[in-house]
Amino acid sequence: MSNYAKVENALTGSPGSSIKLRGWIHRKFHVGKKIFIWLRDSTGYIQCVLEEEKVGKEAFDSFERARRESSVEVEGVLKEDSRAPGGKELEVVSGRVVGYSEDFPIKGGEGVEFLLDNRHLWLRSTQLNAVMKIKHTIIKLLRDYYINDGWYETTPPILTSSAVEGGATLFKVDYFGEPVFLSQSAQFYLEVLIFSLEKVFSITPSFRAERSRTRRHLSEYYHFEVEAAWMDMEELMKVTERSIEYVVQGVLEERQRELEILKRNVESLRKVKAPFPRITYTEAIEILQRNGVSISWGEDYGADEEAILTRSFELPFFVTFFPRSIKPFYMKLSESDERVVKGFDLLAPEGYGEIIGGSQREDNYDILLSRIQEQGYDPKDYYWYLDLRRFGSVPHSGYGLGIERITMWVAGLEHIRDAIPFPRFRDRTKP
Ligand code: ATP
Ligand code: MG
Repeated sequence: MSNYAKVENALTGSPGSSIKLRGWIHRKFHVGKKIFIWLRDSTGYIQCVLEEEKVGKEAFDSFERARRESSVEVEGVLKEDSRAPGGKELEVVSGRVVGYSEDFPIKGGEGVEFLLDNRHLWLRSTQLNAVMKIKHTIIKLLRDYYINDGWYETTPPILTSSAVEGGATLFKVDYFGEPVFLSQSAQFYLEVLIFSLEKVFSITPSFRAERSRTRRHLSEYYHFEVEAAWMDMEELMKVTERSIEYVVQGVLEERQRELEILKRNVESLRKVKAPFPRITYTEAIEILQRNGVSISWGEDYGADEEAILTRSFELPFFVTFFPRSIKPFYMKLSESDERVVKGFDLLAPEGYGEIIGGSQREDNYDILLSRIQEQGYDPKDYYWYLDLRRFGSVPHSGYGLGIERITMWVAGLEHIRDAIPFPRFRDRTKP
């Protein structure tokens, strides 16, 4: 079973060499008495040509019957052919159909809902294949960066009894008759773990019961979260920009072909080098006002306003020091101005907007207690979180990165649904 090559290697192999390939028929057409197929495997496409005299009547007939998306095995000789995609062609000497395909429902030009209903088949497309590879590389590079920098990967739970980001977007689950929630963020658990491991991260699904379908919200997404003891907001922002530079430059190096398939403008990605520009929330409000947005200090803003802000920057940029009233209780109040918290968002350019939200955490017991009460929560629900401030509290900071958000930006996607194999948003849980 193992002496099969991959298409990408076949395309760089030397003419005359014998090669075995397996995959799916992406396209098939007849020219005279020859059958041409474009064979697809996980790595790409190669043209294969079959003639009855070479492969025998039985094999030839079976390929004649095989429709698009049938799975096949072929053995043949590599030939140079400038007309074939990739410049190489496989002259088949033997082959067989492994699994016949029925009439494949995706023929091109279908609408979004149809393609979502047939996501299990649409995932074979060149575009989604390229996005999934880019996402894989982003996750790999994030892991690389943080592990090499001394952070531990940890595994926090998904079923939780406390809200991190507020009650409005919680999914409730029946847990042996008791209500629990699907995690919105691993943050509180990571905060526990820094007292043992100091620098930790996790990659978990997070769940947000977002009411509306937007181009950047999923109800289930993958969340890359970091948390570090002995780290203030300024230090964490430096780690953040260095790691994002590492990821983007790494994708440019390792996923050139996929970025090309997606027609991503790579010039703007090449510019992604630390340090990133920084503005305060107050400056962001001023920029928005100058652009005709009616918004005043103290109000929150969303995707549309972020898109306006991104016009002023070619790089990802930080927005810092938000009003305490629009941010969660765990963000530390600024020492110099108690109206604002030591929080930061990282916004991706080209209209993409927020990909990261982070902050220094409140580490003082009394202040945290009063912030929990100020926002109308019951301190009893947070006893273990408060305990962390009673037993050797340390300054600490962390952030959350939406893996589909960064994938969407780096791959240049219109919509976040294409950054995840099986998107979940309102009214959609299939396939
Ligand atoms: P937004 O304002 O865009 O709704 P948020 O501020 O509510 O996001 P955070 O609670 O800060 O999000 O979550 C941290 C990160 O998780 C965000 O910066 C984003 O990258 C990602 N994220 C949050 N909500 C979603 C979602 N519904 N779908 C996909 N990614 C999300
Ligand atoms: Mg946020």
